[in-house]
Amino acid sequence: MSKIYTSISDLIGHTPLLELKGYEEKYGLKARILAKLEFFNPNQSIKDRIAFSMIETAEQEGQLHPGDTIVDVTSGNTGIGLAALAAAKGYRFRAFVQDSVSIERFKVLKAFGSENVKYLDEPAIADTLKATNNDFVEAVKALEKEVFSKHQDWFFINQLGNPSNPEAHYRSTGPEIWEDTDGNVDIFAATVGTGGTISGTGRYLKEQKPDVQVVAIQPGPDSIPTEENPAPEEIQGVHPFEGIPACQVPKVLDREIYDEWQEVETPQAYEAARMVARTDGILVGISSGAALSVARRLAERPENAGKTIVIIFPDTGLRYLSTNLFEGGEA
Ligand code: PMP
Repeated sequence: MSKIYTSISDLIGHTPLLELKGYEEKYGLKARILAKLEFFNPNQSIKDRIAFSMIETAEQEGQLHPGDTIVDVTSGNTGIGLAALAAAKGYRFRAFVQDSVSIERFKVLKAFGSENVKYLDEPAIADTLKATNNDFVEAVKALEKEVFSKHQDWFFINQLGNPSNPEAHYRSTGPEIWEDTDGNVDIFAATVGTGGTISGTGRYLKEQKPDVQVVAIQPGPDSIPTEENPAPEEIQGVHPFEGIPACQVPKVLDREIYDEWQEVETPQAYEAARMVARTDGILVGISSGAALSVARRLAERPENAGKTIVIIFPDTGLRYLSTNLFEGGEA
């Protein structure tokens, strides 16, 4: 029987789970660590899932029309997923991207025809971030009011507030993990950017097995821009959700879904990502390293011996070759 796909939409999801045998052995871990390899998606990140789900819902609800411009504020991966699908479906796409976004992501966006705007070049964002000490939610509000509302044919897809974001994970990421492990999952850990992954996947897994432990991960204090340290090396795409004002937490993050939260600094994330390249032959991005670093902590707890920890590897290390991720520091 032939197996020919006719759209990149058909290639999204069903990513493999890999037990990190080499990493487990290296540290003598007594728990299993299973990583869901999201770089198997057609545009190499977990964000393909939400890009598809948000565009499809907008089409079904009649909010998106042929020739419209889809716009979003994105660190890159969502933008890439959206830009690719927009290209395939005949929409235009405009991405508002962090100034620190890696050059690979910026160029990939452009390859799909995206019109990229850096924060620095958009006064509505740049001025608001400055005036509010980096309040991103306020900056997006200003962008909506001062820029988006002036363009009738722009559709703000809003990954931070769009219910189709966590819904994509509730419908696909969660069920895939459940089926691929035959329901044998004790702990689920993921980094938080919009919160879509942890909220949708966590909800699905807890509905199947209420005592699944859900662990949410945020950057530590040294990996977040502040007035004293405005440009630290960041865990790109990952943002704090605890210890910040509630109004700055993304709408799609379900704060009831996680049992515990953990912090990771960028060097720890680098170290884990470098190590897993050596132990298991897998090249992953910074947030994957953050998730693995937490998985190791969890696996080292005596009470977790014999348990199965599932983590998400959101994207590929190839997206970070211009950063310090794989520079120096022999793992
Ligand atoms: N890792 C990377 C590389 C990302 O781009 C994102 C999304 N910004 C995340 C992790 C976090 O995923 P989510 O938005 O679903 O919380």
